[in-house]
Amino acid sequence: MIPSLEILIPKSLNEALSILAEQNNGSKIIAGGTDVVPGLQQGSNRFANSDLLIDINRIPEIKSITRTREKISIGGAETFSNILQNQIVQEELPLLWKACSTIGSVQIRNRATIAGNFVNNAPCADTVPALLVYNATVEIESLNSKKEISIGEFLTGPYKTKLNKDEIVTRINVSIPSKEYEGEFYKLGRRRAVAVSRITLAVLTKTQNHMIDEIRIASGAVTPIGIRFFDLEKFAKGKKIEDQFLKELSKMLGEQIIQVTGLRWSSEYKLPVVQQMFYQLLKGIERGSL
Ligand SMILES: Cc1cc2nc3c(=O)[nH]c(=O)nc-3n(C[C@H](O)[C@H](O)[C@H](O)COP(=O)(O)OP(=O)(O)OC[C@H]3O[C@@H](n4cnc5c(N)ncnc54)[C@H](O)[C@@H]3O)c2cc1C
Repeated sequence: MIPSLEILIPKSLNEALSILAEQNNGSKIIAGGTDVVPGLQQGSNRFANSDLLIDINRIPEIKSITRTREKISIGGAETFSNILQNQIVQEELPLLWKACSTIGSVQIRNRATIAGNFVNNAPCADTVPALLVYNATVEIESLNSKKEISIGEFLTGPYKTKLNKDEIVTRINVSIPSKEYEGEFYKLGRRRAVAVSRITLAVLTKTQNHMIDEIRIASGAVTPIGIRFFDLEKFAKGKKIEDQFLKELSKMLGEQIIQVTGLRWSSEYKLPVVQQMFYQLLKGIERGSL
């Protein structure tokens, strides 16, 4: 049962930040509520002692999707349904668009927000691998400060981030990749819809004359939080795209995941699947580069 709670519904960012600045530890931001409400119902530790919910759904400053020549900026409180309907995201950030399209069901996507997804930072948060390969940055505001940090720096551990109690994620920004970049997002769940991810992978590459000019690789769900594989990316740079190398890179990704997670009961099943998924993603990119 959900304990009795007060709910405040600020109508502007300044009002919300003022409320947060005055509150004690019992206050909690709620956006779509698709993580907060089940958490409260299940008595999760992360929501213990919550006595005030600050509903940020009516704050115009943290909605909207805008585009300049260089970047796309998505309001933290934008729902997945709105993001999916946005042609700019669909055309310029296809991996993020695809990740959003795999989340929950229509009902969940109508409520759930992008910032809610990565602030909650469950290992299986589907937007994270795509945001990581796009080098997204997170805009954060408190009453007296404003900052912007990379998504990789923002996410510190399972269900943990750099966000302070008096701060709101206002926007998530992505520099528009040039047309030379292509990539893929892949999610494996136990079923096709409303499925918690078991493995997610995002890959973004820039190739030239069948050589890897740049590759960005991120995983989710199979690692404790979504992460980039910078060593592997460095190793792959400048290498010729040929089947033997793609197989080697896929094997190395599996080894690096084991290094991060340690051997688990599920490794025997997950490792070959990750390696095969990654290989297939790379093969798709190889076909595109020919
Ligand atoms: C049936 C079901 C299916 C689901 N399927 C998926 C799935 O397939 N993939 C997936 O990744 N997730 C899934 N989820 C989880 C959830 O829907 C997502 O994580 C969602 O994006 C959370 O967004 P929200 O707006 O509902 O967040 P909320 O529940 O409102 O908030 C989540 C956390 O973020 C904080 N927060 C929210 N917005 C802000 C902000 N702007 N600034 C600072 N803090 C903020 C809240 O305080 C809270 O700690 C599912 C959930 C359900 C119930």
